[in-house]
Amino acid sequence: MKISVRKSKKTTRNEVDFDNLEFGVHFSDHMYFVDYENGKWGTPHIEPYGPMKMYPALSTLHYGQAVFEGLKAFRGIDGKIRLFRPDKNHERHNMSCERMCIPAISYELFLEGIKKLVELDHAWVPEKRGCSLYIRPFVFATDNFLGVRVSYTYRFMIIASPVGAYYKEGLNPVKLITSGEFVRAVKGGLGAVKTPANYAASLYPGEVAKKKGFTQVLWLDGIENRYIEEVGTMNIMFVIDGTLVTPPLEGSILPGVTRNSVISLAKHWGLPLEERKITIDEVMSEAKKERLQEVFGTGTAAVISPVGWIQHNDNTITIHNGEIGPVSQRLYDEITGMQYGEKADPFGWCLVL
Ligand SMILES: *Cc1c(COP(=O)(O)O)cnc(C)c1O
Repeated sequence: MKISVRKSKKTTRNEVDFDNLEFGVHFSDHMYFVDYENGKWGTPHIEPYGPMKMYPALSTLHYGQAVFEGLKAFRGIDGKIRLFRPDKNHERHNMSCERMCIPAISYELFLEGIKKLVELDHAWVPEKRGCSLYIRPFVFATDNFLGVRVSYTYRFMIIASPVGAYYKEGLNPVKLITSGEFVRAVKGGLGAVKTPANYAASLYPGEVAKKKGFTQVLWLDGIENRYIEEVGTMNIMFVIDGTLVTPPLEGSILPGVTRNSVISLAKHWGLPLEERKITIDEVMSEAKKERLQEVFGTGTAAVISPVGWIQHNDNTITIHNGEIGPVSQRLYDEITGMQYGEKADPFGWCLVL
């Protein structure tokens, strides 16, 4: 596959403090893009990272026809760069695109773009354990048209950003609060696809939660406001009396790659696992009975994010004394161990570049 490359004459690498990386602030020197018109994807390009020209009627700005992905490149202890399960991101990208009426993209256009970008910007893959190069593939409608209809043209892009731990808290447990009067998604809506609209819907409730001193919202189902769904940027898991419990994917929950990896590991380890509906009342009452041992979120950005507190209505529960528990720690160690080339990769999840 031919990629047309225009290299950047300078690098901004030296302006970045790699010891204090924040999420999504700095971008590597290049960006990848492919345009879709006349019913097909054109020639892929790599150019210096920078602003793009667009018309004010760019349809994405008005109607939100767009999809994104997120994965990471890790610098292993052997010096090699690894991608974690990029095939899953590609699969989900095309699933999201189908729901959003966006044309699918081949694995070649997706993966070769990531590979070439990481190769050119390899100096941007941090050395430090826990840090990585976050890769953001995305696609958006580019018609210069104000009517409401499916766009005829699109741009698929990949940009990259060196990142540290996603939450300032790091592996310290986060505080969640249930969504109250707000919902993120309903079955039949967009909850299961990675599209900006889901985040737009979550910003206001997220601000309300932050004002109350919480890290994120714990979303309940949009119909009965009882069943636990996820945490906006993460899927959610519970350890109840030795069993790992997580809500099933029934159309309103984003199918996380990390969620899938945790489930595979749990099965591999013989850890009792239940993918089933779970209500907030069950979680609160199991906590009262001291059977709720651990709660954690799963997602590419943080891998495993322990939950130390959940507030629902006027009740607050503390989980594992507000500290990371053994199952969360083991999963974190195992997955990050594979990502940094320290542990065996029995599932073949890492793609060594
Ligand atoms: C991306 C995302 C996740 C986590 O998915 P991963 O593939 O594990 O990173 C969970 N929930 C939502 C809403 C997301 O957008």
